[in-house]
Amino acid sequence: MDKLELLSALADDIRVCPLCRLAETRTLAVPGEGNGAAQIMFVGEGPGEQEDQTGRPFVGRSGKLLTQELLKIGIAREQIFITNIVKCRPPGNRDPLSDEIAACNDWLSAQIALIEPKFIVPVGGPSLKTLVSPKLGITRARSKVYRRDGILFIPILHPAAALRSPATMEQFLEDLSNLKEFLNREISDDEITPIEEPKAATPAPDEDGGTLSLF
Ligand code: URA
Repeated sequence: MDKLELLSALADDIRVCPLCRLAETRTLAVPGEGNGAAQIMFVGEGPGEQEDQTGRPFVGRSGKLLTQELLKIGIAREQIFITNIVKCRPPGNRDPLSDEIAACNDWLSAQIALIEPKFIVPVGGPSLKTLVSPKLGITRARSKVYRRDGILFIPILHPAAALRSPATMEQFLEDLSNLKEFLNREISDDEITPIEEPKAATPAPDEDGGTLSLF
């Protein structure tokens, strides 16, 4: 099987995924779509109502805004792969819960492994936290460049937030303009923001004053 066939087989598996409670309330799962050889992947938070009805990512109001603004910076949907951290709609468009994100993580990792993008654009805070670091917030991290496993991550504000506030709309458009600039030139190492890792839990001392082994 070539890459496209593997992505399509993966999408078929995602459509019948039973791994979390979102499977019980979805109409259609939304695996993601686009170019299997894309250099850029966009990863949002989760399907909304229109996406749940159609099985396609970013086709509702915020998706239309994203698609339209991407075209203005020279990026067509056909050039990219676009998906979400959870593939099924959280009821009432609530934020996805951490166990739902964890249950869906293998699907996203498999898509990233197949596509091997040079850039991933986390769209909004939950995607940024899942893909780059739970310690990061979108307000400070937007329009910066991070690197993980050889992939460059350039987070942007979510278009749904832009639709709620003119000031956020301005920042969202600024993020896209910065994104365009990053994509069109070499990014040097000193432009990459180091990722602060979450502190590991300190192991409790055992009776000998050493540390308890987890194994
Ligand atoms: N918002 C998202 O994060 N993803 C979609 O697919 C649609 C809206």
